[in-house]
Amino acid sequence: MEVKLKVNIVLSFDAVVCGSGPAGLAAAVQARRCGLSVALIERSGCFGGNMTSSGVCHLLGGRRWDQDSRKMVRETGGLFDEITDALIRDKKAIDPDSVDVFNYNPYGWYPRMAAGVACDIEALKRCLDDLVIREGIRPFLFTTIIKTELSDRRLKRIYAQDQGGITAFEAKTFIDATGDAELSFLSGLPTLKGRDSDHLMTPASLIMHVDHVDMKAYVAYQNAHQQPKLIDIINDLRARGIWTFPFEIFIAIGLAEDDVCMVNTLRQVGVDGTDADSLTLSMIQGREESERLLGIMKAYFPGFGNARMRFTASRIGIRESRRILGRSMTSLEDALEGRRYEDEVIKTTYNFDLPDPKRPSFDPMLGSVDNPNARRKHVAIYAPYSVMLVDQLDNLITAGRCISVEREVLGPMRVTGPAMMGGQAAGFGAALANKNDCDAAMVDGKEIKKCLQDAGCII
Ligand SMILES: Cc1cc2nc3c(=O)[nH]c(=O)nc-3n(C[C@H](O)[C@H](O)[C@H](O)COP(=O)(O)OP(=O)(O)OC[C@H]3O[C@@H](n4cnc5c(N)ncnc54)[C@H](O)[C@@H]3O)c2cc1C
Repeated sequence: MEVKLKVNIVLSFDAVVCGSGPAGLAAAVQARRCGLSVALIERSGCFGGNMTSSGVCHLLGGRRWDQDSRKMVRETGGLFDEITDALIRDKKAIDPDSVDVFNYNPYGWYPRMAAGVACDIEALKRCLDDLVIREGIRPFLFTTIIKTELSDRRLKRIYAQDQGGITAFEAKTFIDATGDAELSFLSGLPTLKGRDSDHLMTPASLIMHVDHVDMKAYVAYQNAHQQPKLIDIINDLRARGIWTFPFEIFIAIGLAEDDVCMVNTLRQVGVDGTDADSLTLSMIQGREESERLLGIMKAYFPGFGNARMRFTASRIGIRESRRILGRSMTSLEDALEGRRYEDEVIKTTYNFDLPDPKRPSFDPMLGSVDNPNARRKHVAIYAPYSVMLVDQLDNLITAGRCISVEREVLGPMRVTGPAMMGGQAAGFGAALANKNDCDAAMVDGKEIKKCLQDAGCII
C-alpha cells in the first residue's frame, strides 16, 4: 500500500548524516570541519547510538594492550582520542594507562579489556551535545528516516518523521550510519542479515547500570579465585536451579564513579533489530531479566549486596543487523591475513567478538583469551573505501556496523574505535566529493586515507 506523504518543508545540505552513533557522529563532525553544511538525523533523544541510548559507555577499539611492549597503545587516534581524552581530563572516564592490567580490575571482563575507555554516560551525552553544537552541525533529534527517493543512480531525497510531521532532506552526499543500513534498505537495495545458513544474528543485550557496588570486593573475589565472569558461582547457581538464563557469563564494567557499573550480561537470543515486534518483546523481556539478574547479583555475587538499579537502557543494544552488499566485501580470509589496501580507510585491532546466535556464551571466532584466534596472522585488520559504497547509488556512503564485510569480520569492525574511524572516512568522502565536484563514489579512497592521517587517525 502506497501512503502519500504531506511534506512540511524541504531542507538542503551538502551532507546529510543518518544516525548519530560513533560512525554517524564522527562523519558529521568531520564533514563539518571540512566546511560542509551538515544535518545529523537521529531517531532517539541523544547523540551517540549504542554508546548512550543503549548504555554501552565502555569504548573499545581505540586502544589495545600490546603484549610485546607491555603497554597500552593507541590504535584509532582522531575523534576517538579527542572525545575520550577530553572525558579523561574531566575525570569523567577512566584512563586505560592508569589501570593495573596484570590483575583483574573493574574495567574489563578480563584484565587487558581495560583498554576500553569506561565513561560516565551523562558526561558522554553532554560531551557529544557540545561537540555537535560547537561544530555548527544542524541536529535533528527525535527524527526517523522513513523513505528515500532515487533519481538517476543518486539518492535525491530522504523523508523523515518528526514531531511536526514530515521533513524532506536533500543533499549532495548522504551518509548511512543507522547501524541497520536503513538508507540502502529503504531504497530497495539488497542487504545481508545474520548467518548465511539461517540468517540468525548474534544475541542482543539490554544493558543496565547499577550503583552502590563495592567494585573492590568484586575484583578481589575474581583475583582470589582467578574467575573471569564469575563462572564458578554461575555454574553452582545453575546446578541449584537458581541461574536459569541461557548463558554462563557475568560482565560488569566499572565506570567513572567508584560504585557504578554497566552490566553487559544479558544475552537475548533470537532478537531481530529490524523487526518492530521483536524489538518490543526484547525490551519487555530484557527488563524482566534485568530485575531477576539484579536479585541474583544482590544475593550471591561478591560486592553487589547493596547494588541498586540506576536504569535499564532506553533501547536494547543490537550488535548485528543488516549489512550492505557493497562494491567490495572484506572477507574473513582478508581479515585473518591482515590484507592491506592502497585505499584502506578503516583499521581495527579488536578481537573476533561475535557470540554465537544460539549459544551466547560461545564465541565461534575468538579462540582463547590469551591467544585470540590462532589463525590470525596480523594484529590489524583493514578495509578499503569500497566496502562503504553500493553499486547502485553514487552519492551514498555507509559507515559503522552496516558496512560490507563478511559477518565474522563484524566482530572486530563493529566496536567504537573502528566505527568512528569509518565515520571520519565517510565525512572526508563527502568533503572530497564537494571539493572535486563529483559524487562520493568517484572519490579516490587513497585521498581519504591521506586526509585521515593528516587528521591524526592512526592508519
Ligand atoms: C550490547 C552491546 C555491547 C557492546 N559492547 C561494546 C563495548 O563494550 N565497547 C565498544 O566499543 N563497543 C561495544 N559494542 C559495539 C558498539 O556499541 C556498536 O557496534 C557501535 O555503536 C556501532 O556504531 P554505529 O554508529 O555503526 O551504530 P549505532 O551505535 O547502532 O548507531 C546507529 C544510530 O542510528 C540511529 N538510527 C537507526 N535507524 C534510524 C532511522 N531510521 N532514523 C534515524 N536514526 C536512526 C539509531 O538510533 C542510532 O543512534 C556493543 C554493542 C552492543 C549492542
